[in-house]
Amino acid sequence: MNTPSRRRFLHQAALGGTLLAASSWLPLRAQASPARKLGIALVGLGNYSNGQLGPALRQTQHCRLAGVVTGSPEKGRKWAADYGFPESSVYGYDTMARLADNKDIDIVYIVTPPGLHAEHAIAAARAGKHVIVEKPMANTVAECDAILAACKAAGVRHAVGYRLHHEPHHLELKRFAREKTFGVFKKMSGQHSFRLGPRNGVKPWRAIRALAGGGPLMDVGIYVVQAACLVKLEEWPVAVTAREEPKVRPDFFVDVEETLHFTLEFADGAVLEGVTSYERGGNSFRAEGDGGWVELQPAYGYRGITGQSSAGPVAFPAIVHQAAQMDDFAQCVMTGRATPVPGEMGRRDMVIIEAIYEAMRTGKRVPVVRS
Ligand code: NAD
Repeated sequence: MNTPSRRRFLHQAALGGTLLAASSWLPLRAQASPARKLGIALVGLGNYSNGQLGPALRQTQHCRLAGVVTGSPEKGRKWAADYGFPESSVYGYDTMARLADNKDIDIVYIVTPPGLHAEHAIAAARAGKHVIVEKPMANTVAECDAILAACKAAGVRHAVGYRLHHEPHHLELKRFAREKTFGVFKKMSGQHSFRLGPRNGVKPWRAIRALAGGGPLMDVGIYVVQAACLVKLEEWPVAVTAREEPKVRPDFFVDVEETLHFTLEFADGAVLEGVTSYERGGNSFRAEGDGGWVELQPAYGYRGITGQSSAGPVAFPAIVHQAAQMDDFAQCVMTGRATPVPGEMGRRDMVIIEAIYEAMRTGKRVPVVRS
């Protein structure tokens, strides 16, 4: 019988891999449970914490929600009741130093707007906690450096919330690249865009440079940069170019870009053409080599990632990305293993993004200086 899972296995076999080899998240799940789950505190209880990270922490095997940092004590008390941690583990942004006294909290996860990541991540590190920072890691490379320095001084681990490094379709892209299933990927393209408007009648932080660091490139275009670097096996691009489209809503996007086209050039001649926009939708990634192509569409959502290739469908069962991501980091902390998404990767992406913004401003091809 040719069931979906059998078809998937046959597809994997045809590509020269096995389902197990392709899905490095599976063995993780099979490892023995530790004596205790590590405690995670979420900093910022907005949409992503409320809709994704909190619910995912109900499904994790190696960590649990043990506290929150919020501007609203009332909201914090509700989270404490919902998730079963003491109200004494609810903190304000101005009392993060007191996290140092809380033995139940091992990891602090920063889920505030990017312009606040450095301040909150540094406070967490100084309290002696391991740190996960949401993407983009910070507004600037200098802020990434400050986070890395604080973590080093405190002797704590760091990671960026790049959930797709734990997602099977993206892990499969990486395997295709590593095993040259379709040859070396030379031509890539990707788009990540959505229409951003006012939130409850107010301009959202995503359209304010001081809080967002930039426009759609910082928020969603970064996924395209990430996917390109993933299929180039974490090589850095050597140069970038960029072109901003004229703004449709210049009064709304005053100090950030609205729609941006950008290219990344890699040392072997590979090129990514990317588009990111707050004016229209788009969610895809495609990579081509001499021996074929692979495409994900949608490519970056929490659910529903769908893959096709010149050799047939690329299909995996859905997983909760955030649960896999947080469990992996908890295991890294417990075992001393390296994380696939360290702060240095978040910093690399900011080096690339700063180069893209310089190319956008100057109209010139800008070298990416690896530092
Ligand atoms: P949000 O606006 O819904 O939540 C932001 C939280 O920060 C809120 O609780 C808000 O009260 C708090 N906050 C504290 N100080 C603030 C200030 N001065 N201005 C505005 N808010 C302030 O945003 P979100 O969508 O939850 O995004 C938060 C972070 O998570 C961002 O870094 C974003 O890029 C990231 N994110 C990641 C993913 C992913 O898939 N990895 C998805 C969505 C968001």
